[in-house]
Amino acid sequence: MPDGASGKAHGGTGASGGREPLAEPKEGDASSKVSKELLDILVCPLGKEKVTLEGDFLVCGRCGVRFRIEEEGIPNMLIEDAVLPEGITDISQLPCQKERS
Ligand SMILES: [Zn+2]
Repeated sequence: MPDGASGKAHGGTGASGGREPLAEPKEGDASSKVSKELLDILVCPLGKEKVTLEGDFLVCGRCGVRFRIEEEGIPNMLIEDAVLPEGITDISQLPCQKERS
């Protein structure tokens, strides 16, 4: 008796129309600006503390300094350009900076 195992029919339904495209990340959503991989390796330049994403900024978990994320999704990690937390007038007052010296 011949083996008829080759008779496999097409499994698809064939109806491919009318399918909604998946929602794409919206422009301007900061969480899509910086990749998770990048966020994982970025740290506060002063205390090497991890930073977290808050809006258009990366915020140091220890000293609270905010680093602006530029248009291209590249965070500006220069402490000179960073936004200091309230009450801080000089980077020497930051916990991360103190620990360093
Ligand atoms: Zn810090």
